[in-house]
Amino acid sequence: MKIAVLPGDGIGPEIVRQAVKVLKRLSRDGLKIEMEEAPIGGAGYDAAQDPLPQKTLALAQAADAVLLGAVGGPKYDTLPRPMRPEQGLLRIRKELGLFANLRPALLYEELANASSLKTEIVAGLDIMILRELTGDIYFGQPRGTRKTDNGEREGFDTMKYSESEIRRIAQVGFGIARKRGRKLCSVDKANVLDTSILWREVVIEVAKDYPDIELSHMYVDNAAMQLVRAPKQFDVILTGNMFGDILSDEASMLTGSIGMLPSASLNAANKGLYEPIHGSAPDIAGRNVANPLATILSTAMMMRYTFGEEAAAVRIESAVKRVLKQGLRTADIHESGMKKVGTEEMGEAVVAALHA
Ligand code: NAD
Repeated sequence: MKIAVLPGDGIGPEIVRQAVKVLKRLSRDGLKIEMEEAPIGGAGYDAAQDPLPQKTLALAQAADAVLLGAVGGPKYDTLPRPMRPEQGLLRIRKELGLFANLRPALLYEELANASSLKTEIVAGLDIMILRELTGDIYFGQPRGTRKTDNGEREGFDTMKYSESEIRRIAQVGFGIARKRGRKLCSVDKANVLDTSILWREVVIEVAKDYPDIELSHMYVDNAAMQLVRAPKQFDVILTGNMFGDILSDEASMLTGSIGMLPSASLNAANKGLYEPIHGSAPDIAGRNVANPLATILSTAMMMRYTFGEEAAAVRIESAVKRVLKQGLRTADIHESGMKKVGTEEMGEAVVAALHA
């Protein structure tokens, strides 16, 4: 297992360090893991005047999986756009062909109070949003602004999905549902959009190869409502780039704790980039207070989706549950009666809890 480790900026290096400790422990216990580190984002700019230095890209291309912290910071906000940290992220996603974005929204029982929704609605929530990442209205051509016949300006974008783009993301979706609760809800706007009519047709065709998965369809406006009304009805939600962008943020906020949620972006060969959903949190960087659990849980996703090491994935996730049960909390998820710990201490506690 060749892993490229890209800590990035802000809290990135602190939280990635904890995830690396977890991987080193798995390695000592028998998994053949090789890790190599390289700069990305602002750190890439500092090292090579490029948010995705050539050497970093080469390392990521040669690796089976990439572990990323986060990029960005006020120091880089005034750089010209191609030099900005987030360009490093956009470019690496494109270069690796990462078209499938997996964002779980999982609420540990111990943290049910962190949600803004009633505990009974969200306690035990465990859903997976699968968002297509490289097509749709965000990339469709033509796009632009033009003058209309009556002389006013008009903005336009093109929403489109080809059959093959829909098929490959649907196949990933059914595959994930098979590893989870065997239910897949495809979200579209087929009552209004032709793109969505084709989306629905192709998803139904792909479903024939997965007779064990229960398929349902939902319009995106209803899905947005159902996510806050009764989110536990979902297992896997499959959707396009724009709807997924919005629904995955909504779903992650059901859990109330940005420091807890991992993500994965996969290509056709199951190579993946794994990262927490949060940013580089410059407001708390370098103070040993950031929550490293989202990054640690990203390594569990890596074990499951790139390496097929389900046992290792469960081992990491169980260790995280155990430290939460022990009452350890970083500042972002702390409540009275719990033991407040720093980033390093939380990382050490997870490593210690990996024993079983
Ligand atoms: P952010 O996610 O970095 O922070 C939002 C809030 O959540 C802050 O108060 C922060 O302290 C807190 N927070 C985030 N992660 C935390 C953690 N692990 N533990 C405890 N608290 C945590 O979002 P932002 O403030 O909008 O952006 C800051 C920088 O991050 C910007 O430069 C932005 O461009 C970048 N960013 C990067 C990514 C990425 O690398 N994928 C994603 C989003 C934002």
